[in-house]
Amino acid sequence: MAKSYDVVVIGAGPGGMTAALYASRANLSVAMIDRGIYGGQMNNTAEIENYPGFKSVMGPDLAQQMYDGSINFGAEYVYGSVESIEDKGEVKLIKTDSDEIEAKAVVIATGSEYKKLGVPGEKEYGGKGVSYCAVCDGAFFRNKDVVVVGGGDSAIEESLYLSKIVNSVTVIHRRDQLRAQKVIQDRAFADEKINFIWNSNVVEVLGDGAKVSGVKVVNNQTNEESVVDASGAFIYVGLLPMTDPFKDLGITDENGWIPTNDHMETSIPGIFAIGDVREKELRQITTAVGDGGLAGQQVFKYIEELNSNKAKQQA
Ligand code: FAD
Ligand code: NAP
Repeated sequence: MAKSYDVVVIGAGPGGMTAALYASRANLSVAMIDRGIYGGQMNNTAEIENYPGFKSVMGPDLAQQMYDGSINFGAEYVYGSVESIEDKGEVKLIKTDSDEIEAKAVVIATGSEYKKLGVPGEKEYGGKGVSYCAVCDGAFFRNKDVVVVGGGDSAIEESLYLSKIVNSVTVIHRRDQLRAQKVIQDRAFADEKINFIWNSNVVEVLGDGAKVSGVKVVNNQTNEESVVDASGAFIYVGLLPMTDPFKDLGITDENGWIPTNDHMETSIPGIFAIGDVREKELRQITTAVGDGGLAGQQVFKYIEELNSNKAKQQA
């Protein structure tokens, strides 16, 4: 028989952990399922300096502290990869790769993952110089030259992290202006180890068969082609929503993000979505945490209503 909870939270990033904290503190039984270690994208972040309460905190440290809080009121952490949700009205059936779990309400907090650049050599040299995580792989490139592709917060923040380890960082961006927050941009422009190649696209990752040796770059204004020598290529060209398991529910938009109302409700009663997986303006730890608090509270109200309707029907 399937295990049963009041609430299943899918994803143990900052959003999911907050929803689990709020729902369990409201005395609901909660399972928080993740296919990896709790903490989500915070585990890929070296230093966080825009989370209130901390001048600066390491991503994995904040993840651990949030986790400790999230299970403090009885929420259970369950390891598994969610493959689908079946909406059976008042009951939702959550199927993982190894189990089936029933819940009255589900909170989807599955976040997003890195987009691939989609150029020749990227896949071939994955783990051999191509990386999507400076915190995980930066140390392999001590005193070496690396390139970073992209111009958003991730690309520039991780360039700043890498510059403390490597010999040089060359940021290759397809426009002549960065998308990253101004404060981060200013720091990168002031960093002597960080260089920029503007209006340029990486069209191939080059290597000797065993490891990356550089990237081929085309200037999109002049069509001029050049090679940038590098031992590592860090790619930060945006995010993709992790919503494949929920496609059949019809709750995603044309790009795969999940729209919700202010109560974090999706178009299906009893299914909520929070954090980066939502269709939203600002994807941050603070906004994921805010969403999680709201969802935890709304789930409580939703279940109260379910129970009171049931009681009325039985009376
Ligand atoms: P996530 O943190 O992405 O967590 C989602 C979780 O869901 C993951 O643990 C994943 O394993 C799990 N999951 C996904 N699919 C399934 C499935 N099918 N079954 C089970 N589990 C599943 N924000 C800031 O505020 N400050 C920063 O300094 C900062 N730095 C960043 C640096 C980088 C490199 C990146 C990429 C992001 C950064 N962000 C930062 C953004 C911030 O990390 C995210 O906005 C935040 O983590 C989103 O939280 P979340 O809970 O929505 O999702
Ligand atoms: P992002 O903001 O979507 O930026 C992606 C960058 O990659 C953009 O500069 C984009 O160029 C470029 N790009 C996209 N597709 C490309 C392609 N095919 N080829 C070359 N370049 C391409 O993604 P992100 O930087 O990963 O950030 C994701 C979210 O996390 C954002 O909401 C961000 O604010 C948040 N985040 C926050 C922090 C922080 O608060 N400190 C740190 C990291 C991330 P264009 O600019 O031309 O579109």
